[in-house]
Amino acid sequence: MIFDLHSHTTLSDGSLEPHELISRAVEKGVDTLAITDHDTLDAYGEIPPLNGAINLIAGVELSTQWQTTGIHVLGLNVDLDSAAIQTAAQTQSGARLERARRIGERLEKKGIEGAFEGARELSPGSYIGRPHFAQHLINIGRVNSMNAAFKKYMGDGKAGDVKQQWADLPQIISWIRDAKGIAVLAHPLKYKLTRVKLKKLLDDFIQAGGQGMEVVSGQQQTYLTRDMAQLCEQKGLLASCGSDFHGPGKPWSELGVFPSMPGNVTPVWDRF
Ligand code: AMP
Ligand code: MN
Ligand code: MN
Ligand code: MN
Repeated sequence: MIFDLHSHTTLSDGSLEPHELISRAVEKGVDTLAITDHDTLDAYGEIPPLNGAINLIAGVELSTQWQTTGIHVLGLNVDLDSAAIQTAAQTQSGARLERARRIGERLEKKGIEGAFEGARELSPGSYIGRPHFAQHLINIGRVNSMNAAFKKYMGDGKAGDVKQQWADLPQIISWIRDAKGIAVLAHPLKYKLTRVKLKKLLDDFIQAGGQGMEVVSGQQQTYLTRDMAQLCEQKGLLASCGSDFHGPGKPWSELGVFPSMPGNVTPVWDRF
C-alpha cells in the first residue's frame, strides 16, 4: 500500500490541476493521497468523482514560524466543513496577501517595480507565494531560472523572504486539531537545524499539541530515514510520509516515490 500524504496542485505552487494530480497518483500506484496545498483548501472545490480509484485524505500545509525559522505543519484528515480549518485558510490567505505586498515593497527598494501586481496576476487562487514572485522575475528578464530567482531575491535571508506574518505555531496546531485533523511537522530535515534545535522544535511542537512528524519526505538517504524514525519513536509521535510532489520535472519527488516507512514507528494512517 502506498500512502503519499504530501502533494501540491496549481491552487498553490504545484503545476498540475487537482484532477491531473489525482490521475497521475493513480497511474503511479498511490493508494492513499493527501493534497496539501500551502495555506489553502481551494483544491478541494475541484475534486473530480473518484469512483474508488484512490483514497483521498483532506489535508493542508500551513506556514508558521518557530523562533526565527519558517516551518510548515501539515494538517491531515481535517474536516473540510469545520469552522476551524476554514478560519485557518482564510487567515493564512490574508497573511499571504499582506506578506506579498511587503515583498513587493522590498523588491521595489531593489529597483524592481510592480512585482506585487506581477505576482498577483500569476496566482489563480487564494495562494500567492514566493514562487509567483520568482516566476515574475523570470518573466521580466531579471533572472533566467527559478533557482536563480530564489538564490538572488526570494530565498532565505534575501530581500523577498518576508517572515513573521503567519499565525503562530500553537494557533496553527489548534486549528488543525479543532478540525479533527492530525498536526504533522513537515520535512523536519529541510530547516537545517542543529540536532539540539530540532529536538527543541519537536518539544515545542508536542507541547502545543502536535501529533506527528514526516519521517520520510521524498527521496532521502537510508541513514536519515532511520534517524528520523528513531527521533519520531523517542518523541512518541505518529510517523508520516510523502513526496511533496509539485509537478513533473520539478525538483521534488515523483508521486509515491520515496523510501518505505520503517517498521519501528506508528504510521499516522492508523488514526485516520
Ligand atoms: P512561500 O510559501 O511563499 O514561502 O514559498 C515557498 C515555496 O517556494 C516552497 O513551498 C517551494 O515550493 C518554493 N521554493 C523554495 N525554494 C525554491 C527554489 N530554490 N526553487 C524553486 N522553488 C522553491
Ligand atoms: Mn511549495
Ligand atoms: Mn513545505
Ligand atoms: Mn509541501
